[in-house]
Amino acid sequence: MKIAITGGSGFIGKHLTQYFLARKHSLVIISRQRQASKHPLIRNITWSELKSDVKVLEGTEAIVNLAGESINQRWTKAAKERILQSRLDTVAQIADIVDRMERKPSVVVNASGISIYGTSEKASFVEHSEPKVMDFLSGIVEQWERVMDQIQHVRVVKLRLGIVLGTDGGALPKMMLPYKLGVGGRVGSGRQVLSWIHIEDLCRLIEFCIGNEDIIEQINATAPHPVTNDEFGRALAKAMRTSHWMPVPAFMMKLMFGELSTLLLEGQRALPLLAIEYEFQYKYPYIDIALEQLLNPQVKS
Ligand code: NDP
Repeated sequence: MKIAITGGSGFIGKHLTQYFLARKHSLVIISRQRQASKHPLIRNITWSELKSDVKVLEGTEAIVNLAGESINQRWTKAAKERILQSRLDTVAQIADIVDRMERKPSVVVNASGISIYGTSEKASFVEHSEPKVMDFLSGIVEQWERVMDQIQHVRVVKLRLGIVLGTDGGALPKMMLPYKLGVGGRVGSGRQVLSWIHIEDLCRLIEFCIGNEDIIEQINATAPHPVTNDEFGRALAKAMRTSHWMPVPAFMMKLMFGELSTLLLEGQRALPLLAIEYEFQYKYPYIDIALEQLLNPQVKS
């Protein structure tokens, strides 16, 4: 199958590229700058090259859009604007590309986020829960999903990602840092819920969404068993063979990270109702199993 990936140089994009290559799919990686790849199954192209000609995409069955300015930076006014605009622009460009393709792909899988539900310690959110704009991130994701409706004549999947766990990118390496220094512990109250997914399960779920024509609109890309921040810390400490003892007060997080600290101080319980209904089989449904596999892959369970 021929698949196009945007944001292929990012954390999820790199894993997804390797996952698809292992299954012998041919890939077109769309980036802001031309990347060099000698792999015979990869063709690299830039967004600006696609403005004049989309022929390179002919025969593409699926487009996976993972592009967007990193949220992992201080949320200054300018950064917030870049974070929002980069997402709106890339979706608009995909809508335009699909529109210009003679033979359309069957599906566009677009990254989105569970932040769209707002934050809550108590509520559980499934795919038909109402979006709730209550802070910067929920506002971004709500607008991001709205522009995805501009992509016409193809099936569009809005992949509402939880925190994606991998050792080479995303949030996990940063969450591991205090534990490496021997000062790991719960953050804030520790009761905030962390809805997560193992990077390998995410790649498998993306492939599942591509192949399953019944999946339209939004799907929660999270493991079936979210945990509180305190439970997550305990599982992380166990997998890192260290202790979980030193709480980090909320005010300290706010001082260190500004508004970005809301990512760790607040959360939401997002449940993958659709993935379960469609009988997607998780390899890593529980946090202990996921962290043990990621941090101690040599140890067989
Ligand atoms: P990364 O930041 O690792 O990668 C994103 C990619 O987007 C980059 O490699 C880059 O690709 C491209 N990009 C960066 N800045 C811009 C910009 N200003 N304009 C256009 N493109 C840009 O993200 P992840 O792989 O972690 O995540 C992929 C998507 O999933 C993102 O939209 C993210 O917000 C979302 N998400 C991720 C979660 C996670 O836990 N990782 C959780 C929830 C949502 P290139 O240089 O090739 O153009």
